Amino acid sequence: MSTWRKRFLADAAQWRSAGLERKRRVVRPVSATTVEVDGKIITAFASNDYLGLSRHPRLIEALAEGARRFGVGAGASHLVSGHHAVHEELEHELARFAGKPAALACMNGYVANVALMTTLAGAGDTIFSDELNHASIVDGARLSRAAVKVYPHVDVDGLESQLKSSGAGHKLVVTDAVFSMDGDVAPLRELLALCERYDALFVVDDAHGLGVWGPEGRGSLQALGLQSSSIVYMGTLGKSAGLSGAFIAADRLIIERLIQRARPYVFSTASSPALAHATLTALELIRSDEAGRARIAAYRDRLQRASSEWRPYRLLSSATAIQPLIIGDNTATVEIAEALLAEGLWVPAIRPPTVPEGTSRLRITLSAAHSDADIDRLCTTLSHVIASATADQA
Ligand SMILES: *Cc1c(COP(=O)(O)O)cnc(C)c1O
Repeated sequence: MSTWRKRFLADAAQWRSAGLERKRRVVRPVSATTVEVDGKIITAFASNDYLGLSRHPRLIEALAEGARRFGVGAGASHLVSGHHAVHEELEHELARFAGKPAALACMNGYVANVALMTTLAGAGDTIFSDELNHASIVDGARLSRAAVKVYPHVDVDGLESQLKSSGAGHKLVVTDAVFSMDGDVAPLRELLALCERYDALFVVDDAHGLGVWGPEGRGSLQALGLQSSSIVYMGTLGKSAGLSGAFIAADRLIIERLIQRARPYVFSTASSPALAHATLTALELIRSDEAGRARIAAYRDRLQRASSEWRPYRLLSSATAIQPLIIGDNTATVEIAEALLAEGLWVPAIRPPTVPEGTSRLRITLSAAHSDADIDRLCTTLSHVIASATADQA
């Protein structure tokens, strides 16, 4: 047997025995919150489509209209001939939405973070990164050739002592605004104050804040009224906006530097002009959906009240649409997820390496498209499933 085959088979066997094997479920969407899986209709608490926009009739129409008017493909990279008028218009609107002087639309959030880390820091500089930051930040930082200092999760004092002792060329602090697996929110005000005190650029990844947080869903920074030319804001468009894509909004000097030098941007075909057209509609829908944001908040409160029945497991007290129920053991987490699935409820089991060892969890995500009945069903079914799982153990 070839060396690579032996090695890959051994790895796969080890993942399987550790309960870490991943499976993709094939889904056929039925509505924003229900999908058909293996011929069965199930209610999903599993997507980041927080406002249910992925199937919004106006957005579907906007994408079709964009395709008719502008075509489906951009034809080239932005710097060659693929920067369409509708991309330009979208970037103006994104800058306005984010309250920043300029914006750059990108393929997706992963690419945006790699572009940011590799273009805003390099050899001789230091990137200070929260230990629970998204994988795309970690990968971008590794690629950047800057020194990387990982600070303890949301630890402002820990970060300050690292900044104080740093002799870096320049400094860049980067954080998720809302952490994707815990749902907790970074201390953005305190982090910004540190960045200003220690002359650092401050990159904020708001993948899970945009759309659900702040006035008109404009995100985590505007929720706190934070403004500074040292802030670089990254928002994604595949979550609340219901589409795909991302953008960076910042000072003009930053955006211009990215256009000149960000390799993932320069060397990629521009995203579909139809998608850019639809994104304009998505921004409008986000801004006007106060009712959707209020529903998410009400569902979240309901879950937190119900969670006393889910002991010994602990619902992380999150103010966001992300409500993780910490189980701990990998296999137990999968068993509870399977039992829920048998009842027609889909809550994904999140395991290492996505989360630290011993903190496997059910990642419940709420959507404005859920109904009161969906939330009731989730709460009661979870109580039953957990009661019978813990009775089995006893
Ligand atoms: C989803 C996510 C990304 C990646 O965004 P995509 O558009 O899906 O590539 C980046 N950062 C965070 C915090 C995310 O949750």
